[in-house]
Amino acid sequence: MDTIVQKYGGTSVGTIDKIKAVAKKVIDRKQKGDNVVVVVSAMGKSTDHLIDMAKQISENPNKREMDMLVSTGEQVSISLLSMAFHEFGFDSVSLTGFQAGIRTEGAHTKNRISDIDIENVKKHLNDGKIVVVAGFQGINENGDITTLGRGGSDTTAVALAAKLKCTCEIYTDVEGIYSVDPRVWPDAKKLDNISYEEMMEMASLGAGVMETRAVEIGCKYKIPIYVASSHGNTKGTYIKEYDETMEGKAITGLSISDDVLMVTVNNVLQNSKNIALVFERLAKYNVNVDMISQTAPFNGYVNVSFTTSKEDEKTIDQITKELKEVIEGIKVSKDSNITKVSVVGIGMMKQAGVAAEIFSIFSDNDIEFKQVTTSEISISYTIDAQDKQKAVTVLAKALNL
Ligand code: ADP
Ligand code: ASP
Ligand code: MG
Repeated sequence: MDTIVQKYGGTSVGTIDKIKAVAKKVIDRKQKGDNVVVVVSAMGKSTDHLIDMAKQISENPNKREMDMLVSTGEQVSISLLSMAFHEFGFDSVSLTGFQAGIRTEGAHTKNRISDIDIENVKKHLNDGKIVVVAGFQGINENGDITTLGRGGSDTTAVALAAKLKCTCEIYTDVEGIYSVDPRVWPDAKKLDNISYEEMMEMASLGAGVMETRAVEIGCKYKIPIYVASSHGNTKGTYIKEYDETMEGKAITGLSISDDVLMVTVNNVLQNSKNIALVFERLAKYNVNVDMISQTAPFNGYVNVSFTTSKEDEKTIDQITKELKEVIEGIKVSKDSNITKVSVVGIGMMKQAGVAAEIFSIFSDNDIEFKQVTTSEISISYTIDAQDKQKAVTVLAKALNL
C-alpha cells in the first residue's frame, strides 16, 4: 500500500459543500488502495478574518497570541473534513500540528519546522484511518502553539511527505503552475514541469501558489510535488529535479509581488558603522530585508533604501524611532505603493543579455524602475504599483510567457 500526502488550500475547503467534495476526492484515492494523509488550510478567508479581529484590538498584536489565534482556523477545517469522512463511512482522525508531532523553532508567526515525530500519524495510518492534519501550525520547545507564516500549509504537507518518504499533491484553485499568475495575466501558459530551483525562486519572489519553504524541503529531500486543481481531473504541474526535457527558454516565468514596503533612510552620514546599525536593528526585530540600494555619497551623506514586507510596517516604525536616537539627523520615509516584478529561469545561467532585454522592454514602454537585483536565475525590478499591469503585459508578450 502506497502512502500519499494531499493538501487542500483555503478556497478548496471554503464552504461545507466544498469540504464534502474534497472528502469524496480523497475517498476515491483511498479506494484505489492508497493510505492518505490530508493536510488542510483554514476555510476560505478565515485566517484573514482572524487577523482583522486582532488588528481591531492592537496595531501590533503580541506574536505568541497571534499564533494562538490564527492556528484555530485550521482546527475548524480538519474537524469538519474528518466528520465528512465518518459520514461517508470511512474511519478518520483529525490531528492538530502538535498531535501530528510537528516541532518548530524560530520567531512566533514565522516558525520553521525543525522535525516531525511521525509515529502518531503512522499509527493512525496503520489502523486504516484517513489522517487529517492541520496545516500551518506546530509546537515549539516551550510547548507553545506556533505558525509557519502565510501559506504555510504547503510546508506542512511537503514536510510530512518528506518524513513519510512519499509524493505530495497540492490541490488548489488553479490548474497548476503557470508562467505568470493567471489572475494577473490570463493568457499565461500552464507548465507541465518546473524545477525545484525555479519554483523556489518564483515562490520567494511572489508566486503565492506555493510557499517557498515547502519547495525548499521538497528539493532537499527530493520529494516529487504535483500541483493541480482541487476540482476536475485536468493535468497539473510536477515540481521536480531539473532535467534536459524541461523547456530550454532563458526565462520560465514571471513573479509579481505587491507585498513590498520600500523604506528609505535619508541623510545618513557615510560610515559603515551607521549602515550596520540600521541592518542590525532590523535583524534584532526579525525583519526580513529584501532589496538594498544605496546612493553615491553627496557631501559625505548617503541615502539607503531597502524593501521588506508590508506586514512589518509597524515594526519599522518602532525601529525608526530607535534609529533616530542613535544616528543623528536621519529622516526615514516609507512607500508602500510599490510592486516587484521578477523574471525567473535556469536558462539565464547560460544566456547573456537577459537584463539588457528587460531594460529595453521597460524603456520602450516608459516604465521607470526604482531598484534592480539579480540572482543566478532571476532579475527583479521594483516599479510604481500603477505600472504593474502594463509591465506584466509587455514582459509576458515580449518573452512569450
Ligand atoms: P491555496 O489556498 O490553495 O493555498 P493560494 O491562493 O495560496 O491557494 O495559491 C493559488 C493562487 O496562486 C492562484 O489563485 C493564483 O492566483 C496564484 N498564483 C500566483 N502565481 C501563480 C503561478 N505562477 N501559477 C499559478 N498560480 C499562481
Ligand atoms: N491558513 C493559512 C493562511 O491563510 C495557511 C495556509 O493557507 O496555507 O496563510
Ligand atoms: Mg497557498
